[in-house]
Amino acid sequence: MFIFIFRVKVAVRVRPFNSREKDRRAKCIIKMQDKMTMIANPDAPSKSHDGFKENNDGTFDAVSGSKFASQRTVYNDLGKGVLNNAFEGYNCSLFAYGQTGSGKSYSMVGYGPNKGIVPIICDELFKEIASNTKDNKRFEVTFSMLEIYNEQVRDLLAKDNPKGGLTVRQNAKLGMFYVEGLKNTPVGSYQEIEKRMEQGTAARTVASTNMNATSSRAHTVVTITFDQIIKDSIGSETKKSSTINLVDLAGSERADSTGATGDRLKEGANINRSLSALGNVISALADVSMGKKKVYIPYRESVLTKLLQNALGGNSKTVMIAALSPADINYDETLSTLRYADRAKKIKNQAVVNENPLDKLIRELKVYNRCFSYIG
Ligand code: ADP
Ligand code: MG
Repeated sequence: MFIFIFRVKVAVRVRPFNSREKDRRAKCIIKMQDKMTMIANPDAPSKSHDGFKENNDGTFDAVSGSKFASQRTVYNDLGKGVLNNAFEGYNCSLFAYGQTGSGKSYSMVGYGPNKGIVPIICDELFKEIASNTKDNKRFEVTFSMLEIYNEQVRDLLAKDNPKGGLTVRQNAKLGMFYVEGLKNTPVGSYQEIEKRMEQGTAARTVASTNMNATSSRAHTVVTITFDQIIKDSIGSETKKSSTINLVDLAGSERADSTGATGDRLKEGANINRSLSALGNVISALADVSMGKKKVYIPYRESVLTKLLQNALGGNSKTVMIAALSPADINYDETLSTLRYADRAKKIKNQAVVNENPLDKLIRELKVYNRCFSYIG
């Protein structure tokens, strides 16, 4: 078995100004040059990222000379790689980090015609499946969607959820955490996934804060399992599997900047608990990658880090989108997001192609038997 080392890939995306920032005459403090993102002193603003136009179908595209990144551009830069890795049999994870209103959900799920990276990946996945002409190959895809809210797991595709949420358990043999009883639905087309995703999105827990009236205060995790079953010339089957985790994290802002009180403040504390646990895990993993020995990785600190264990420090090719507001008024949160991203960039993961060993063994035995009968 080959083990490959991969760095976590980090992409920074800056959205255009929103109306609140325009009303407050905010200045742009983010500058991007090649692969570098710079945050400027709020007293020395730079050019904004607002140079986009609306096409006839309602999608947004960059106007010439602008640094606006369309949904297609983001898919081409990040999503395509995720899809290719899935076809090769690697586990993949993509997660969006950033303060509320910075464009995490826009990047992951999208709004209206501006579909995000998750629907585009799913669409392209089924297009690729449809273009397969080999009849010795079949595909199996499943879809699940959950949210973590106040440290409790809710199945977004289930009619009812138990009080206190679903239980997170650890597989005794493999050590991985999983959600017990989570609905994992087989899907046969992009339309089916789209339907499930709409159902799941509608079931999310939504609470408004001053920062963004519709933004969710929960982490949303979509998991797609993708199996390719390949029959060889002597009729035995090998399964290549990939688990794709797509995570839209809750807003990373500190509770005090959103004017939250009471229950909302408690939520904020819980969100920050899991996000700071995520930060601790990322830091520890970055230390390991830089050669530090005997580092304890605190996956158990939160539900989020338990479920992201494989995505962060295990068998996965991982991408993080750091979503930013361009505005000077968000300087503190933007700086903290960039610091987070910078730490995540240091993590190296060990990814393997997941091929079902049992089938492989059977195949090898059969070849062996055949050779044997030739001799006989
Ligand atoms: P978050 O999920 O981080 O709280 P959203 O994704 O909901 O934030 O984005 C907040 C608002 O900004 C939405 O109205 C969205 O349409 C807009 N927006 C975010 N990113 C972009 C972008 N890259 N281009 C255009 N509009 C965007
Ligand atoms: Mg959101």
